[in-house]
Amino acid sequence: LQIPNVSLNDGTSIPQLGFGVFKVDPAETERIVSDALEVGYRHIDTAKIYGNEEGVGRAIAKSGIPREELYITTKLWNDEQGRDTPRAAIDASLERLGLEKADLYLIHWPTPKQNTYVESWEALVELQQAGLTTSIGVCNFFESHLRDIISATGVKPVVNQIEQHPIFQQPELDAYLQAEDIKTEAWGPLGQAKYPLFELEPVTAAADAHGKTPAQVVIRWHIQKGNIVFPKTTSRERMVENAQVFDFELSGAEYDAITALERGEEGRVAAHPNEVN
Ligand code: NAD
Repeated sequence: LQIPNVSLNDGTSIPQLGFGVFKVDPAETERIVSDALEVGYRHIDTAKIYGNEEGVGRAIAKSGIPREELYITTKLWNDEQGRDTPRAAIDASLERLGLEKADLYLIHWPTPKQNTYVESWEALVELQQAGLTTSIGVCNFFESHLRDIISATGVKPVVNQIEQHPIFQQPELDAYLQAEDIKTEAWGPLGQAKYPLFELEPVTAAADAHGKTPAQVVIRWHIQKGNIVFPKTTSRERMVENAQVFDFELSGAEYDAITALERGEEGRVAAHPNEVN
């Protein structure tokens, strides 16, 4: 599998396509991540709250793949936000993962009601300086949250991991991220299979034209947009399918027709960042 890297604003780079393990049963995670590594994925996106870091760690250990060829992301859960608590949180995540250092550590949600995201970001800057993670970033932050953490520390997150798929693109937030050289990681890139994305005409038309599946067309749209994506599946066949997206290109018209599916707020399929605590 040849997967391109994307450059990040701290001088490092990340494989543009990875494998996400949200809602992957902890009891099955080792097998599923082992499949993903065998298929050729090298970038794994997990989180403390997913409860499956240990399974990810076992799959990594068994794979024998050199550490430097892997890119592992995990995330700080909301109840461990604060000025001092993230240190113990990342230590525990690394222990479960069997790693000495993460590649990317993210604040999982801004949780504006508890209002600890600025001090949590200050703590992540220190975790990076202490060598516990190569890069640091955030998830689900709005522009105001990003401005707050950048003005407090002078340190930009390398990514903002946000819900993004053809009917919900958050174009204004995306434009701000682009202007600030913060990469968009699109979570729920397939809309979490919560709406009939794969039956929409611009998607099926491009799939027919290229001899690809609708899922491949949607993943390709993200890739051409410059997003970092890690679609989730438990099926090995779909792991292969979802990675076969570097041997074709959507035309400008095909790309634009998919982009035009944007429906604003009504396209959101998961939680609103201000409502998650
Ligand atoms: P997704 O958009 O990747 O959708 C996953 C669903 O799509 C699967 O359940 C599967 O049924 C279906 N699917 C996958 N491949 C398919 C194919 N080839 N054909 C047909 N159907 C297919 O949703 P997701 O898992 O929520 O998002 C991906 C990753 O993003 C997660 O695993 C997780 O790592 C991350 N994530 C992060 C946050 C956050 O708050 N930071 C939130 C949700 C997800």
